[in-house]
This record gives sequence, structure tokens and C-alpha cells, in this order.
Amino acid sequence: MYLVRLIYTSEISDGFGPNDIEDILEKAKKKNAECNVTGLLCFNSTHFMQCLEGSRKAVNATYHRILNDKRHRNIIMLNYCEIAEREFEKWSMGYIPYSKLTTPLNIKYSGTSDFNPLAMSAGSAHKLMLALRDSMLDKVI
Ligand code: FAD
Repeated sequence: MYLVRLIYTSEISDGFGPNDIEDILEKAKKKNAECNVTGLLCFNSTHFMQCLEGSRKAVNATYHRILNDKRHRNIIMLNYCEIAEREFEKWSMGYIPYSKLTTPLNIKYSGTSDFNPLAMSAGSAHKLMLALRDSMLDKVI
């Protein structure tokens, strides 16, 4: 079965609270492990950027559930493509905390020093994800 990668960005809905991110991660890790989806979730307190990889069927089903989740809005797909191998196979859903989204990384992959996924090309979003993965290796959160 084909492997695909999907990267999207979104912003929190009104009323999003600190417990929501824990709930999202707990559910994501459990459900992704069940259908062999892997990836990373970045969050800076207002915006999400997430990479999902796995079989086309599993990634599409996961993205469909995510699209229907009222805890976030303005969900924009940045990248969807077939891939030959996974790049985030260590994580059913790794979490990148705000502290890892540093000014040098933001400057390297976008035109601003703030984390602004909407200002990134698909290629830059993917490369930022890989840089964040490398900064997290051996630290499964
Ligand atoms: P149920 O848990 O049965 O919930 C039914 C509906 O209510 C769903 O539409 C659900 O989105 C919504 N819902 C559930 N809890 C809440 C709540 N506390 N407040 C408001 N609405 C709620 N899921 C994954 O499987 N894998 C992922 O990688 C993943 N990443 C996510 C990233 C983000 C940024 C967000 C916001 C959600 C993510 N989710 C992920 C969660 C996903 O949206 C679903 O909530 C989850 O998969 C459970 O789906 P379900 O159909 O079993 O819904």
C-alpha cells in the first residue's frame, strides 16, 4: 500500500484550553498507533503544524477526523505527496513544544522570526519538520 505524507496548519478555536492539547496528544498517539500513522505535531499556543505519514487510506481517514475537530479552525493543507519511506517512524505522534520553535529555525524556513506556518512553502514546512525531528531524536514525548 502506498505511503503518503500530509502536512497541514491550523489555528486554535476560541475556548481552547491547556487540557485540550493533552487530550489531543493522548488520542492521537493511541489512534495513530492502531492504524500505523506516524508524525509530529508542533504547537506554539496559537497555531498547529502537523505532519502525518502512513498508508494513503489511514492518513486520509485521520485527516478527515482532524478536519471535523472543532478545537481548531482555518485548516490549510500545505503538503500532500507519495513517499518512498517514513521520516518520523519513531513517533505515533511526537510533540514539538514551543521552546523548540526557535527564532533561528523560524528565520531559516520563513520570512519572519515568529512561527507562522502560513508564510511557509510546502518545501520549507517539510524541512522545518525534519529539523525539529532531528532536535528531538532520542526524546520521545
Ligand atoms: P470522538 O473522540 O468519538 O469524538 C467525536 C467528535 O468530537 C470528533 O469530531 C472529535 O473531533 C470531537 N471532539 C472530541 N473531543 C473533543 C473535545 N474535547 N472538544 C471538542 N470536540 C471534540 N486524531 C488522530 O487520530 N490522530 C492525530 O494525529 C490527531 N491529531 C490532531 C491534531 C489536532 C491539532 C487536533 C485539533 C486534533 C487531532 N486529532 C488527532 C484528534 C481528532 O481530531 C479526533 O478528535 C480523534 O481522532 C478522535 O476521533 P473520533 O472520531 O474517534 O471522535
